[in-house]
Amino acid sequence: MNTEKTNYAPKEFTKMRFDMHVHVGGHGLQADDEKNRDDFKKNINLYFNEPKFRSFFIMAEYYMMERDLASDSASVNDEGKVTTDAYLEYVYKRLVQSKEIDSIVLLAMDAPFKKDKDGQYTIDWKHADLLISNKFLSDKVDYLNCRLKCDGRTDKRFFMAASIHPLREDFLAEMTHIINNKNVVAVKIIPSEFNLDLSSFPPLYWKILAGNATYKDFQMAETDEIFSHNLTLKLPLILHTGPEYCFEQGTLKPELNMHEDLKLILKAGVRLIAAHCGARVFPTDKNHIDNFLKLLDIAHSDNNNWELYGDISGFTFYSRLNILKKLAKQTPYHKYLLNGTDIPVPVYQSGWTYKWNLIKEIFFNLWRKHVTAPHHHYKFDSTIIAFASSIFEQFVVSKKASTIKNVFDRDVAIKRSYGFLDNNPDNIYTNAGSVLRDPAEVH
Ligand SMILES: [Zn+2]
Repeated sequence: MNTEKTNYAPKEFTKMRFDMHVHVGGHGLQADDEKNRDDFKKNINLYFNEPKFRSFFIMAEYYMMERDLASDSASVNDEGKVTTDAYLEYVYKRLVQSKEIDSIVLLAMDAPFKKDKDGQYTIDWKHADLLISNKFLSDKVDYLNCRLKCDGRTDKRFFMAASIHPLREDFLAEMTHIINNKNVVAVKIIPSEFNLDLSSFPPLYWKILAGNATYKDFQMAETDEIFSHNLTLKLPLILHTGPEYCFEQGTLKPELNMHEDLKLILKAGVRLIAAHCGARVFPTDKNHIDNFLKLLDIAHSDNNNWELYGDISGFTFYSRLNILKKLAKQTPYHKYLLNGTDIPVPVYQSGWTYKWNLIKEIFFNLWRKHVTAPHHHYKFDSTIIAFASSIFEQFVVSKKASTIKNVFDRDVAIKRSYGFLDNNPDNIYTNAGSVLRDPAEVH
């Protein structure tokens, strides 16, 4: 008997099972052509600063991610590259096939800005790795949702997290656009990609995200049309915390992503989602996850009621498996954790091809520490043991979970096998629906 469900009904936002951390990638326009820069300003494409990736480690990492996508049937062009459209097609198909995930939040990424000779803030092309404008992504989200509708899959949805650099000349106008955009459920920041410390953000930035901005705040800065009644809605902030290895800026300025104190933002009333919970990636990284859990205790104590959450994206990457296992045992924290994959960062899978890639990566990691950064001493401290334990974890992680073909379902199955269950109210898969901005609130 064919039990396949064919009539798919839309779900309420709070009941959807989310992957709230999926990057937009693929080979878009190159930076070395002035014409392409104009195209980015017109929001018609994604901009990828590939020639600048001189770091051998990052090149190896990009190669690994691209191979991972290609081996999972993402189409490649004549040059063997996965284009942005091919990447989004890949994500679309995997979401439609997924039995575990209803909704995906795609992440935009604004450019870094700098002051030029005339005192104007312009795009700092030198420090730009990957640029995805809000307009470009919102159009893609509209297209993907339209396609879901045409395919009769009203049970699935795409959303986006917008990205706005505070030094943009049109920062307030851009804020107003996203505040009124129903596709936008959060704002995402990777400080190293903005080339800016959090303490340098204007207080109005946090006020807007907290839903506390008033007409008065805008009066002096911009025209009346900028103020919108949706500004009273909270727009959660997904903030990268901990080491960052996917972009060159993250490796050059790691201190921008190591927030010793997130209280500044929490005290301003922002609903904060600490992406990756400050967890380390490699053994030589400082691990901030214990500090994050302590901060969760402080944040949710009776005295404070700060809105702090964490996402566990990138935790099924091989080097973080043992952290995932430990976190799964900390059940009281589950209600503050949100599910994400960090795709295209690979999700662990069993099989020899994968293990061969893993061995190559370990080699690159050691090579990077010894050859490309000789000033950085490689320490055999407890983090090495933790790392070894992650490697070991790969051989004991549930065989059944790690062979599941669909990347979103494999990620969920691994997390579930460790103890992240679907019990309410501590269900990490649906928690995001109560934390992200519900589009139904946008008038
Ligand atoms: Zn990420």
